[in-house]
Amino acid sequence: MIRRLCIIGVGLIGGSLARALREAAVCREIVGSGRSPAHLRQAVELGVIDRFDTDPAGAVAGADMVLVSVPLGAMESVFRAISGHLAGDAVLTDAGSAKGSVIEAARRAFGAIPGFFVPGHPIAGTEQSGVEAAFPELYRGRRVILTPLGNTDGAATQRVRAMWEAVGATVAEMDPGHHDTVLAATSHLPHVLAFTLVESLARLGDSEEIFAYAAGGFRDFTRIASSDPVMWRDICVANSAAIQQMIERFIGDLRGLNQAVQAHDGARLLDLFTAAKDARDRYVEK
Ligand code: NAP
Repeated sequence: MIRRLCIIGVGLIGGSLARALREAAVCREIVGSGRSPAHLRQAVELGVIDRFDTDPAGAVAGADMVLVSVPLGAMESVFRAISGHLAGDAVLTDAGSAKGSVIEAARRAFGAIPGFFVPGHPIAGTEQSGVEAAFPELYRGRRVILTPLGNTDGAATQRVRAMWEAVGATVAEMDPGHHDTVLAATSHLPHVLAFTLVESLARLGDSEEIFAYAAGGFRDFTRIASSDPVMWRDICVANSAAIQQMIERFIGDLRGLNQAVQAHDGARLLDLFTAAKDARDRYVEK
């Protein structure tokens, strides 16, 4: 199905796709690119990619599918580096966690958003990063959102859809702005809360003692605060408007909860916790 896949950014997301496509036997050759030759050599040794080129322009030569899976802040420089070097039949896609900023980066780098570019975002991941964290089952049963634009070539979208379906994902299409609003609520806000909670507690008097008594609930709630700080800095900068709206809404709700705690308003607290439990049981655990 894919003659030559080029992955720029062979970390958790790009490396896992490479591993999964190999298992599915739908890709003849995988070429990697990134900044560090040591990381790319490791990717070859692990069998994730066949070969690499640290120059993105060289890496994309002859590739009919190109995935850019670098942090959001590096998307534009990668697009600039590959502009004019893609094969005639190449389809370009990305894995960035926010879509509006990547689309604008493509517009600036290519002069206009190319019809062969299909913005995408796999809704799958872990708090680990780097190629050593990549595993082939990451996308099985998970969702991938594609945000094609008015001028996106339908055949290119179909090829990206087929690639993700080949690794067990379900593909949905969405408007980029809507994607960024939804993800700000479901992914970006929870990460911001987890980072802030852990950092705030780390500054309390004896943080060693506080963390020593942290039990399962704390671990569950804060696992994602071990995620890559660079990636999350880039997401907050890239999707700033939508994240800011969610943070402000949440601050209002937290103030309401604080008032109920101060007032010993057990009925209000019970209503709130019951509504939260019902929603989680219905939508998240189902
Ligand atoms: P990762 O494991 O840190 O991998 C990123 C890769 O990009 C690394 O291999 C790194 O290699 C390379 N890289 C970094 N800066 C670069 C640059 N300036 N030029 C070229 N290569 C560069 O990160 P990831 O978790 O796979 O995330 C990759 C993308 O997927 C991000 O855009 C993120 O928003 C998105 N995403 C992440 C998740 C998640 O849960 N992790 C989920 C969905 C989408 P070198 O250091 O060797 O350059």
